[in-house]
Amino acid sequence: MPRDYYEVLGVDKDASQDEIKKAYRKKAMKYHPDRNPDNEEAEEKFKEVSEAYSVLSDKNKRRKYDQFGHAGVNGGQAGGGFGGAQGFSGQGFGGFDISDALRMFMDDFGGFGGFEDFFGGSRRSSSRSRRSTNNRKKGSDLKIKLSLSLKEAAEGTTKHIKIKRMETCEACNGKGAEPGTSFKTCPVCNGQGQVRNVQRSMLGQVVNVQPCSNCDGQGKIPEKPCKKCSGSGRIKKQKDIKIDIPAGISTGHYKTIRGEGNVGERNGPRGNLVVFFEIESHKYFVRKDDNIFIELHVSPAEAALGKEMKVPTLKGDVKLNIPAGVQSHKLLRLKNKGLPHLNGSGRGDQYVRIVIDVPESTSKKQKELYKELEKIERGNFSNNNRFSKIKQ
Ligand SMILES: [Zn+2]
Ligand SMILES: [Zn+2]
Repeated sequence: MPRDYYEVLGVDKDASQDEIKKAYRKKAMKYHPDRNPDNEEAEEKFKEVSEAYSVLSDKNKRRKYDQFGHAGVNGGQAGGGFGGAQGFSGQGFGGFDISDALRMFMDDFGGFGGFEDFFGGSRRSSSRSRRSTNNRKKGSDLKIKLSLSLKEAAEGTTKHIKIKRMETCEACNGKGAEPGTSFKTCPVCNGQGQVRNVQRSMLGQVVNVQPCSNCDGQGKIPEKPCKKCSGSGRIKKQKDIKIDIPAGISTGHYKTIRGEGNVGERNGPRGNLVVFFEIESHKYFVRKDDNIFIELHVSPAEAALGKEMKVPTLKGDVKLNIPAGVQSHKLLRLKNKGLPHLNGSGRGDQYVRIVIDVPESTSKKQKELYKELEKIERGNFSNNNRFSKIKQ
């Protein structure tokens, strides 16, 4: 399990938003990658405090976290409880990587101006985070929406889908050079692979070194670009992807499948595939969190006398005992007939709301019986119980 978010930031459970912000700033400054170059431990800490802050600074997420812990805000993703890297995430929350953390840091300090000057250019660090060891730019993430039926959400499923994504060009092996031709020195950076930028700031001159965009940091460019991919080293192709979906998924959940996004230009590493789930609405069932609601229509006689009835649930029909004298809009509970809790044990319940349907037209026989009944029931109401306030 990931560490407790309050513990990570070093604040009390009842800390104010201000205290949380201050604690985050202090820790984020301390562990910022620009202050701790090539220090993986600091980078991990930086991600950890950023993740904690992203939850505790958001009232809604903080309330859920207080109630349900990590599972409440990210389905336990941060701990990799869901099969390692392919974690599930709650709404607005993706497995925190360093670029998320840096972006959040910059957002938070947005009004601060000049922060880049203190660390000598945070743009450098964010571009660094997008680059792989061979300095190639990572391919972009692919985002897709996937609809599931309520039944699939309740039971979990495996989906095979087709996506179009950028794949390595086979003609040039992703290198971008027309087969049989070679590379030449990049004229923009003279083969250095980097360009230097000198900026003035309140702290004096700041030298900003960035990878050369003309050669993508490689120092050389193809003499003749590959005809098939125009030198990008990649082409669009259709691909079959298998997605395992656990039981309990809701609309708004998403899953990041690492390394299944677009391949980068000229053999850059792959981005991720992010699958957003949407649960289709059902003919009878209404879902609220992991509970299911359904209305059951009964006649006045059935309500008065009580009856055992078959009620559909996500797992087939079950018998429900309608007690004699049941009132209209009474909620009856079918325990554990809701959806399984994502990443936790147990499941929700199904609630059956009784609706008493009065016949809109009556046969001769029915009319006689209702008349008889009306006489018997005449004493049931007085001015004391005839009227009541509308229940909102
Ligand atoms: Zn090619
Ligand atoms: Zn260059």
